[in-house]
Amino acid sequence: MVMKILGVETSCDETGIAIYCEEEGIIANRVYSQIRLHQKYGGVIPELASRDHIRKTLPLIQEVLEENAIKRNEISAIAYTAGPGLVGALLVGASVAKSLALAWGIPSLGIHHMEGHLLATLLTKDPPAYPFIALLISGGHTQLIACYRNHRYQLLGESQDDAAGEAFDKVAKMLGLAYPGGPEIEKLAKKGDSERFYFPRPMTRKPGLDFSFSGLKTAVMNEVKSLEKIRPQDAEDLAAGFQKAALDTIKIKCERALDYTGLKRLVIAGGVSANMALRENLERTALEKEFKIYYPPLDLCTDNGAMIAFAGYQRLKSGQKEDLTIKVKARWPLADESI
Ligand code: AMP
Ligand code: MG
Repeated sequence: MVMKILGVETSCDETGIAIYCEEEGIIANRVYSQIRLHQKYGGVIPELASRDHIRKTLPLIQEVLEENAIKRNEISAIAYTAGPGLVGALLVGASVAKSLALAWGIPSLGIHHMEGHLLATLLTKDPPAYPFIALLISGGHTQLIACYRNHRYQLLGESQDDAAGEAFDKVAKMLGLAYPGGPEIEKLAKKGDSERFYFPRPMTRKPGLDFSFSGLKTAVMNEVKSLEKIRPQDAEDLAAGFQKAALDTIKIKCERALDYTGLKRLVIAGGVSANMALRENLERTALEKEFKIYYPPLDLCTDNGAMIAFAGYQRLKSGQKEDLTIKVKARWPLADESI
């Protein structure tokens, strides 16, 4: 029988349900975003996220199966996000996935959310060959990882405080922009002068591959406070200056990771990888330094079930098995194999 894997993603504020078929690729991919639910609070409220996943997960699975005329007995396994993420939200997806898998008599597979993001790049027409460096930049993570072969990852560096996406979100909030802030900052930055305010490029003077974005965020906050009133031009210039500093920092660390390891391929995944200025910035460096950049398809950059279904397929093929215990991890280093 052709294998079809159901993917369930509930680690944060998106309920993602998808089906990966080993012959046809992604055959269904539905994402229900809770953004509107959290927008008025300026960030994700974990308890509200869990409750909404409870409302949405099962009906969305049912819809995806019906819309695609797929019967339960055609599903070979259910992959779900087991971490890292909001623990309540993760528990919803894990409980639903494991209960269905038990009822349908098929295996369930707990997937690392960041591995999902990373492997989504393999779903493009021109996928990267191993080994490569992965830059994972999302609302909760900023990591540089050396990927040597399937499921063999080495963490090279990560953020010591705020994640890159979190910094975009917090700066956006300071400027009175809507959540999530990344796309809003990007839009505003296009109209701004990135040279008017100078912001630090944290941790770039010392050697090493770790990041820190909290000082950069505070530097923006200080400028905001020093201005009597934020006029539209000020907001545009602040957004442009902040974005330039954040993207320069990311670029310097990527170049360094490639230099240290001698690798020539860079995979960029996670929500912040949707930022076009980041892509242009890195593409210019790639031309100069002769390395190649790979991205997941744009619609798979932010959280979705397709990347979880695909990672589940890979894990199933490599023999991952698990018992009935429902275990999720709010924190879970990618280099650590076990759930
Ligand atoms: P994820 O955690 O992978 O779901 O991605 C969500 C994060 O990506 C949020 O922090 C967003 O602000 C950020 N993000 C999304 N689009 C962009 C963008 N165009 N530029 C910068 N950050 C972005
Ligand atoms: Mg998200």
